[in-house]
Amino acid sequence: MSEQPDPAAPEEIRDYIRDIIRDDLAAGRREVIVTRFPPEPNGYLHIGHAKSICLNFGVANEFGGRCHMRFDDTNPVKEEHEYIDAIQEDVKWLGFRWGEHLYFASDHFERLYGWAEHLINAGDAYIDDLSPDEIREHRGTLTEPGRNSPYRERPVAENLDLFQRMRAGEFPNGARVLRAKIDMSSGNMNLRDPVIYRILHANHPRTGDAWCIYPTYDFAHGQSDAIEGVTHSLCTLEFEDHRPLYDWLIARLPVDMVPLQYEFSRLNLSYTVLSKRRLIQLVQDNHVRSWDDPRLPTLRGLRRRGIPPAAIRDFIGRLAISKSDGVVEMALLEHCVRELLNQTALRRMAVLKPLKVVIDNWPEGETEVLEAINNPNDEAAGTRPVSFSGEIYIERDDFMEEPPKKFFRLAPGREVRLRYAYFITCREVIKDDAGEVIELRCSYDPASRGGSSPDGRKVKATLHWVSAADSVPAEVRLYNHLFTRENPGADGDVLDDLNSESLEVLADCRLEPGLANAAIGEAVQFERQGYFCSDPDSTPERLVFNRTISLRDIWAKIQKQNRQS
Ligand code: ATP
Ligand code: MG
Repeated sequence: MSEQPDPAAPEEIRDYIRDIIRDDLAAGRREVIVTRFPPEPNGYLHIGHAKSICLNFGVANEFGGRCHMRFDDTNPVKEEHEYIDAIQEDVKWLGFRWGEHLYFASDHFERLYGWAEHLINAGDAYIDDLSPDEIREHRGTLTEPGRNSPYRERPVAENLDLFQRMRAGEFPNGARVLRAKIDMSSGNMNLRDPVIYRILHANHPRTGDAWCIYPTYDFAHGQSDAIEGVTHSLCTLEFEDHRPLYDWLIARLPVDMVPLQYEFSRLNLSYTVLSKRRLIQLVQDNHVRSWDDPRLPTLRGLRRRGIPPAAIRDFIGRLAISKSDGVVEMALLEHCVRELLNQTALRRMAVLKPLKVVIDNWPEGETEVLEAINNPNDEAAGTRPVSFSGEIYIERDDFMEEPPKKFFRLAPGREVRLRYAYFITCREVIKDDAGEVIELRCSYDPASRGGSSPDGRKVKATLHWVSAADSVPAEVRLYNHLFTRENPGADGDVLDDLNSESLEVLADCRLEPGLANAAIGEAVQFERQGYFCSDPDSTPERLVFNRTISLRDIWAKIQKQNRQS
């Protein structure tokens, strides 16, 4: 086990949001805690969303409440069914359930329309005929107040009539909007008469052509919260400045309960990007193969890469829920993945860059079956048979013809151990015409069966290997960071920081034959190499494996350096 403490037991998790909830419960301000995860169905989820998902569902579970799955589908132009389905699948994969509490902002359109009329009737909203450009000009800047629209003082009856005609489809896109009447000189730009309804003649994935006016985010989010009985509306910091508007609107609507918004910082992760716009660009411009490319931080990418959802939950559980922005080290995520897989993954032998070894003194035609341990961290995982014979493959990098001082693996005249098998000694090096080593001739010591010599002779290295006859060919894909710098695009174009070596394909690997039956996505450890999983591209003729992560944990090293400095 590592020295890293386990994440705190649920009831012990402390952060400022959970503290507020505890206080609300203790003071009787709330009886049931209701949260929601509110994605816009305009892209695939990424690990940043996982922070919001784990927080919202986690809090609801910890306090015996419930978390709603709510699609914020107020912008029909950018939304698609494909995303609605994919998002639900991904949240379930991450391990969370919402039961019957699946909602769409569009479910509430009729109610929202009624609430908009309510604001108009109360003199709190008006129809503005200014063009989008004019509205922008009137808005002012951070240092200058805005100016009132000439339509701001329209009588209620006229506003109502125009709003109803907007709904009836009498006006083209952009002709008019409904604005909340707040304060054009407010220091908070969001309060300068924000637009709450706009005309959009567009087919909506769920409501079809029923509507040609749509509420904006600000007039849908808090309202949906109120309709669904959400008590704590947890969102990321960029909405902090929207909170006064959130509260202003709720205070003026005939709601049954008052939801409150709390903000927390977004997850930023080194060596990658977590912005939907950026991710879409990477996919569309073919910098990666697809949305589930194992190099992407999308949940689909991480899944295809072989990262278990429990490792993502563990990772998120170690992050601070606070209001200060920062960048989390990718190495921490990798550490969580290793820590989990080290406990659970079965060990197998696989040779990624094969070098043939012929054992000269092996009895002609004979095959021997040896016993290999499946998981040293889990005795119940048992053992498996591996067959050994006179021709095997070892890793090309495990041999050097002229080894430097610190190289202890195979070299001419040197003896090493083959894992679970025998000691072998390199007797001869065979090269092709170009001088490249293509085969080693070795001898084995029959007395060293199982990996130890009866005379107590020591060797300095143990190599993994596969039998030439009893192994299967495979393609193995090695992944590296998608970007070369921790903070992609920090001084220029993000695309300039793309890592041209983020994918390395090894076409001629040899695997233990049992790996032909590995389930897609199921983690295995290739001994001495790392954790891998079978890729959906695998066919019975051609196995394809992804490297989830190498064995070397740089997180531990970073921690140590931090302690020393
Ligand atoms: P957009 O720019 O399209 O709004 P988004 O990433 O905010 O993109 P949403 O679908 O609105 O996408 O996100 C759903 C929820 O996930 C929101 O509550 C949002 O705050 C949260 N979220 C998105 N990105 C992160 C992140 N990096 N860290 C934490 N939470 C995030
Ligand atoms: Mg958003």
